Amino acid sequence: MGLIVQKFGGSSVADADKIRNVARIITETYRRGHSVVAVLSAQGDTTDDLIAKANEINPRASMREMDMLLSTGEQISCSLCAMAIEAMGYPVVSLTGWQAGFRTNATYGNARIKRVQTERILAELDKKTIVIVTGFQGINKLEDITTLGRGGSDTSAVALAAVLRADLCQIYTDVDGVFTADPRTVTGTHQLAEITYDEMLELATLGAQVLHNRSVEMAKRYNVNLEVLSSFSGRPGTKVKEVARIMEKSHVSGVAKDKNVARLALVGLADQPGIAFKIFSLLAKEKVNVDIILQSIGRNDTKDISFTVGKQDMEKARRVLEEHVDSLGFDHIDVNDGVAKVSIVGAGMINNPGVAAKMFEALYNAGININMISTSEIKVSVLVDVRDADRAVQVIHDRFFAEFGGGS
Ligand code: ASP
Ligand code: MG
Repeated sequence: MGLIVQKFGGSSVADADKIRNVARIITETYRRGHSVVAVLSAQGDTTDDLIAKANEINPRASMREMDMLLSTGEQISCSLCAMAIEAMGYPVVSLTGWQAGFRTNATYGNARIKRVQTERILAELDKKTIVIVTGFQGINKLEDITTLGRGGSDTSAVALAAVLRADLCQIYTDVDGVFTADPRTVTGTHQLAEITYDEMLELATLGAQVLHNRSVEMAKRYNVNLEVLSSFSGRPGTKVKEVARIMEKSHVSGVAKDKNVARLALVGLADQPGIAFKIFSLLAKEKVNVDIILQSIGRNDTKDISFTVGKQDMEKARRVLEEHVDSLGFDHIDVNDGVAKVSIVGAGMINNPGVAAKMFEALYNAGININMISTSEIKVSVLVDVRDADRAVQVIHDRFFAEFGGGS
C-alpha cells in the first residue's frame, strides 16, 4: 500500500462537522493500509477575513507581516483536524509549512517553493503516523514565513506528492470534479472522467477555478497522478494525467470564460520593421503579461496592433505606451475593459480543423461578434463583449456537448 497525499480546500474544512468529515476520509484511507499526508487550506473565508483585519490596522502593511498573519489560517484548520483524528483514536501529527520542510524563495505573498526537506515527514510516516500539513506556506532563507499566493495549497500538496513520490494526489473540493464548463452558470454540463495536464493547465489559466495553475504545471513536470473530487459526495472525481482517453464524439474537453481581460489597440502605427519588438519589449520590461495579439494589414503606410492584458495591468500598459508615443509614432490608444475571453480546450482538436469553425458558427448563430481570435494546438480563444460572455459560453457548450444529452 502506497502513499496518498490528500488536499482539502477551505470549503471542505469550513466548520467542526466538515473537519470531522475530512478526518473520516483521511482515517478511512489510512485504515485501508495507506500512508497519508493531508494538506489543508484555511477554514472557509478565513484568509479573506485575515486580510480584512490587516486592512483595519494598516492597509499598507508589509508583505512580511501579511504572510506572518495569513499563515495562521492554515495552522488553525490543521490543528483542529489533528484533534478530530486524535479523538477517533489514530496516531496523528500536524506540521506547519516550515516543520514540514517547505523552503521558498524570498517573495512574500507569492513565494515559489525551492525544495522540500522531507526528513521530518518521513520520520513520522515511518512511525505510522498520519501527517497533516498546512498548505500555502513555507520559509525563506531568512527563516521568515512566506505564503505561496492565493489558492496556493494545491501547489503545496502537489509538491509533497512529487518529493514523496506519492502514488496519488487527491484534491478534495466542493465540486465533483472538472466539468465541461462551470456547472454553476452553464446548463447541460457534465463531469469529465479524465483530462490531460495540458488541457487542465489551459482550463485553469483560462478561468476554470478548480485548480491553482501552478499546481497543474508542477504535476505535469513531476508526473504526479492527480484526482479532483468532492469531499462531500463520495463520487468518483476527475483524473488529471499525461494522456487521457479522448472522448469519441468530441474533440473538445471544456469551455472556459475569463472576464479579467482588457484590450488595448495602438492605432495608426508606422508600417515598418521593429515596431512590434519595441511595443512588447516595453511591456515586458514593466512585467505586463500580454495574451492575444492581433496586427492588422497595413494600409496607407500605417497599421494597428491590438493585444489583451489582465485588467490589473491595463492602466500600466497604457501609461508605458503613451510615455513612448514619440518613438513608437502611433496616432492614439484605444482601451476597452468591457471584454471577456471565451475559450475551448481539447487535446483532440490538433488534427481536426473543423473545431474552430464549429465554435465560430455557434457564435454567428447567436449573433455574437468576435473581436479577436487566438489559437494553439489545444485551444481556441475569442474575445467578445463582456455582455455576451455568458451566452457565448452557453451556445458554444451546446454546440459541442448537446449530443451528450446534457445533465450530469
Ligand atoms: N487559504 C489560502 C487562500 O485562501 C490558500 C488556499 O486556500 O489554497 O488563498
Ligand atoms: Mg482558500
